[in-house]
Amino acid sequence: MFIDTHCHFDFKAFAKKQIECWRECNQKGVFKLIIPGVSTKQWSVLPDIAEAHSGIYFALGIHPWWLEEQIGAHQNIDNSPEIGQQIRNGVQHHRCVAIGECGLDKAKNSSLEQQINVLNWHLTCAEELGLPVILHCVKAHNEMLACLNEFQTVVGVVHAFSGSYEMAMEYWRRGFYIGVGGTITYERAKKTRDAIRRMPLESLLLETDAPDMPLQGRQGAPNSPEYLVDIAECLADLRGDSLDTIAKATTENAHTLFTKL
Ligand SMILES: [Zn+2]
Repeated sequence: MFIDTHCHFDFKAFAKKQIECWRECNQKGVFKLIIPGVSTKQWSVLPDIAEAHSGIYFALGIHPWWLEEQIGAHQNIDNSPEIGQQIRNGVQHHRCVAIGECGLDKAKNSSLEQQINVLNWHLTCAEELGLPVILHCVKAHNEMLACLNEFQTVVGVVHAFSGSYEMAMEYWRRGFYIGVGGTITYERAKKTRDAIRRMPLESLLLETDAPDMPLQGRQGAPNSPEYLVDIAECLADLRGDSLDTIAKATTENAHTLFTKL
């Protein structure tokens, strides 16, 4: 059994084929999937999608790419009692397993200061509500680690990790799992492949980030949670483990981190 710990199954790419796609996933051994939150506007549809399929869970958060749009609607997310109430109510749902996705992205043009404020707000929520966080981090690992240092009790996952072994270990020491996705299928991603190969198996989670992050050989087409097993096979080859070992370990890791799964 495999768990896709990060898939945007609510996005348009899956609109008319959720049932068919999820059936295909089940046939390939993917039985659970987590849909990350990206904006408050989208939060209300997540419980409906989760309830429509067995094995589908979700998280609530504001993705850095949606921050500008979100700020247009609500000034000061971190001070908004309305959004605070909305997240507190939302996480009560039995299929809501985490806070996120949230984080820092220096490849985006929005203010880093604003991104840090909103990330800290998510970390405060995670600490208060006792839930893990799903982090998005692009070119901002040092700033991210500085934020995490202020929240010693918060654990989670660095989704779609890309970086060195030393950086991955910095996260793992703080209680953050490493999200392994399509990046490892690319020969040129040498540093990330080396990091994932050397990390303890207990630190790794599988994810597709579909419809984004197509695997090697499938560029140009939307990614799908059906391909999670291909990532697992690539991980098994990379580490010299059997597919069965990878399946068991990553599934157990996901259940350890996301206790509501
Ligand atoms: Zn994502």
